[in-house]
Parts: sequence; C-alpha cells; structure tokens
Amino acid sequence: MTSPLLDIRNLHAGYGKAEVLHGLNLQADAGQVITVIGPNGAGKTTLLNTLMGLLPTRGQLLYHGEDISGLTLEDRVMRGIALVPEKRELFGTMTVQDNLELGGFRQMRLGNRQWRTRMDDVYDLFPRLKERRTQLAGTLSGGERQMLAVGRSLMSRPDVLMLDEPSLGLAPLIVKEIFSIIETLRQTGVTLVLVEQNARAALAVADYGYVLEMGEVSLHGRAAELAQDGRVIDTYLGAARQD
Ligand code: ATP
Repeated sequence: MTSPLLDIRNLHAGYGKAEVLHGLNLQADAGQVITVIGPNGAGKTTLLNTLMGLLPTRGQLLYHGEDISGLTLEDRVMRGIALVPEKRELFGTMTVQDNLELGGFRQMRLGNRQWRTRMDDVYDLFPRLKERRTQLAGTLSGGERQMLAVGRSLMSRPDVLMLDEPSLGLAPLIVKEIFSIIETLRQTGVTLVLVEQNARAALAVADYGYVLEMGEVSLHGRAAELAQDGRVIDTYLGAARQD
C-alpha cells in the first residue's frame, strides 16, 4: 500500500493562546481532490494556513512521507506546496503577465528554464488571461482575478494546490467556470485541497471530503457518500432529502 502524499496527524494550531484546530487528522493521496467543508469559523482557513507554514503547530505533518512541520513557508513552496488564498492577493498595479512571472520563482530558483513554457500552459488553461496579459491585475473581473490567482500558483508546478474559497463572491456563471477549471486541474494530476462554502459543488468535484466543525473533523468519507449523508444534506446542502 502506498502512503498518502499528505498525512496530517493530531494537528493542533491556533492564534496565541486560542487553539483553533484540536487534534485534526486528514489525508490526501497523490492526484486526489479532497474538500474541507464546514461552518464559518470552523478553522478551514486556519488549516490551509497551517499547512502552508504560516502558523505554529503541534502534531505531525507528513508530506511525501517526511515531516515538514518545521519548514518555513518558502521551503514548503520550494517543495511543491501552493496556496491560493481567499483574498487572492494579487499585485493589482502589475500586469497579468508580471503576476504570473512572480509565481514562477520556484522554477527559476530550481534552475528550470521551462518556466516560460509553464506560462504557455497556464495561458492554454486560461485563454482569457492570455488575451489580457498586458492588463493590470487590479482591473480584472472577479472571475479573471481568481483565474490569475490559480494560474500564478500553477506557475510553481505544485504537487499540492490548496484553494481557499475559490468561488467566494463570484456570480453563478463564473462559479460554474471555476469548478470546471478545478475539474481540468484534477486531470493534470495535481493534488487539490479545496475549502469551499459551496458544499454541493465541492462534493461533486472531490474524491474525498472532510466536515470540519469547531476545529475537529466531525465526519469524513468518499465525497459521493457524504453528499448522500442526511446530516450533510440537512446542514450543508440546504435541500430536502431525496428519500
Ligand atoms: P470562514 O468559512 O468564515 O472563512 P473558517 O472555517 O475558514 O471560516 P478560520 O478563518 O480558520 O475559519 O477561523 C477559525 C477561528 O479562528 C475563528 O474563530 C476566527 O475568529 C479565528 N481566527 C482566524 N484568524 C485569526 C487571527 N489572525 N487571529 C486570531 N483569531 C483568528
């Protein structure tokens, strides 16, 4: 049996004395799409920030079988972990192309001259970004900004890409587009960790799901099974049960 790409065991994290994650366990196999759903304040963003190395933690954080909990943010990026934060954090006064180039620093640092090819790959995935490559990021629409944020992360050729609320604040048509991009990303073989308020769409695209409540995993299972679970339906899918 192969070990998971990401294996988080008994993870505790928080802000100062306030613990937010209380002994969380979570696994992702290579190439899998996992989703973390749960109510506001459950600790979903905290989990992603913890995996990225932005917060002090206790517990084991195994990546490719190695404990990376002591590594800095930069070291984690260099090893192939990337996060698209909820606020996108683009450089608004720089062009689309310049924002993408910034995302390629891992490849440049590794001496990989293929990073320009990588930009072509990103433009193939998001033709709209190519059309707008000289436009300032700050003038893009919400959907385009999300595409740029994802594209910039992909420039580092991550093994694990974490997306924090990629559909937040976007119009339904754009949300549809974002989820179709997630489906495309899955086909590239990248492992995805998707935090989403839109639990229905997230469970539809994911292989496996975790329900996070008050800093603990209250339920987990194959996404298709969670989508049929009465508690998940009542609490997160906001629709009457089909049975
Ligand atoms: P949402 O769906 O609303 O984004 P979430 O599940 O992502 O919620 P977190 O943002 O991880 O939840 O927040 C978990 C808890 O940690 C909340 O009680 C929040 O107030 C607290 N928290 C988040 N960031 C900080 C911070 N920088 N300092 C102190 N407490 C924080």
